[in-house]
Amino acid sequence: MLILGIESSCDETGVALVDASGHDTPRLLGHALHSQIEMHQAYGGVVPELASRDHIRRVLPLTDEVLAQTGLSLSAVDAVAYTRGPGLAGALLVGSGVACAMGMALGKPVMGVHHLEGHLLSPFLSADPPRFPFVALLVSGGHTQLMRVDGVGRYELLGETIDDAAGEAFDKSAKLLGLGYPGGPALARLALEGNPMAYKFPRPLLHSGDLDFSFAGLKTAVLTQVKRLAHARPEGPATPQLAQALNVAQKADVAASVQAAIVDVLVKKSLSAIASTGLRRLVVAGGVGANALLREQLNAACQRQNVRVHYPELHLCTDNGAMIALAAGLRVQAGLLAPSGGAVAYRFDVRPRWPLSELAITAL
Ligand code: ATP
Ligand code: MG
Ligand code: FE
Repeated sequence: MLILGIESSCDETGVALVDASGHDTPRLLGHALHSQIEMHQAYGGVVPELASRDHIRRVLPLTDEVLAQTGLSLSAVDAVAYTRGPGLAGALLVGSGVACAMGMALGKPVMGVHHLEGHLLSPFLSADPPRFPFVALLVSGGHTQLMRVDGVGRYELLGETIDDAAGEAFDKSAKLLGLGYPGGPALARLALEGNPMAYKFPRPLLHSGDLDFSFAGLKTAVLTQVKRLAHARPEGPATPQLAQALNVAQKADVAASVQAAIVDVLVKKSLSAIASTGLRRLVVAGGVGANALLREQLNAACQRQNVRVHYPELHLCTDNGAMIALAAGLRVQAGLLAPSGGAVAYRFDVRPRWPLSELAITAL
């Protein structure tokens, strides 16, 4: 069964073709991606209206690119999957509109996919796919959650952030250091040259005894440190000029120290989740899963404890169409989504707010 996947929840347009025939792990046949990062950079963050318009411009050329890569025609597609939510309403509507139009034209079913389920299952496209059950650490731009995963659609939330997501902590710290948007990767690069022990940033909720996270305080601590280094008034505002007063070595030290704090918390809480569930397998997913220090420290910690750890391929950590086609394929294979069933309503069906806990096991 060939599934075309379309991702348009935020600032990446992704299209991919996945083969989910039989019961083999679905295979990625081709994928194409366009990131809008450059377009939004001037504004320091995603501008929803610009995002929607750019998805419209990109989605069909990207589809053609995927078809050219695979040598297949659109008529070979058996179903079209798209990101139904969560995400920006206007951006999601582009994906759902295009998916519905394709479905109608082809007479094929259309399936709405939960974006986080896509992230969560993305390691199944890697060379070393996981097996159920496992603990999942989902660390993205908007979410930080630990889950117990017993199968496709069987997700139990163990803990989550009570304020900012880990990706947000990276991005906001990067912004304070004048590293642009989204600053996660830039901060990680700069951190390579810094001393992670230079500043002692807080590790919030590290010993809270539960599996929740909190990263909002980190941003304040970084701001306070940047002001101190810039000899600015403590009660003054956070301005772009603050970072300019720091030299590269100071910025690198702050970057390394804040990255160390975030990674420390993520690693320790993941291990607590492993301990409390008794499971021996950890799956990491979402954009922050691309972070090299996080992978290094998780690998080391898991090796010590004889726990297997799985990641998505690096380029599939952030948003992409492959994970959307994959999630649809795994749902069909698990019998949770009838490929020609009731989902063929061709409605522009999006859910900008959609907790994973509300993702029904049986039907979408
Ligand atoms: P969500 O999936 O929760 O809706 P999102 O789609 O914006 O949010 P992702 O695309 O999964 O999130 O990930 C983007 C986030 O990952 C950004 O916050 C980005 O800074 C962060 N990120 C990407 N690469 C790295 C890296 N190497 N180190 C740290 N953070 C990173
Ligand atoms: Mg993005
Ligand atoms: Fe995402």
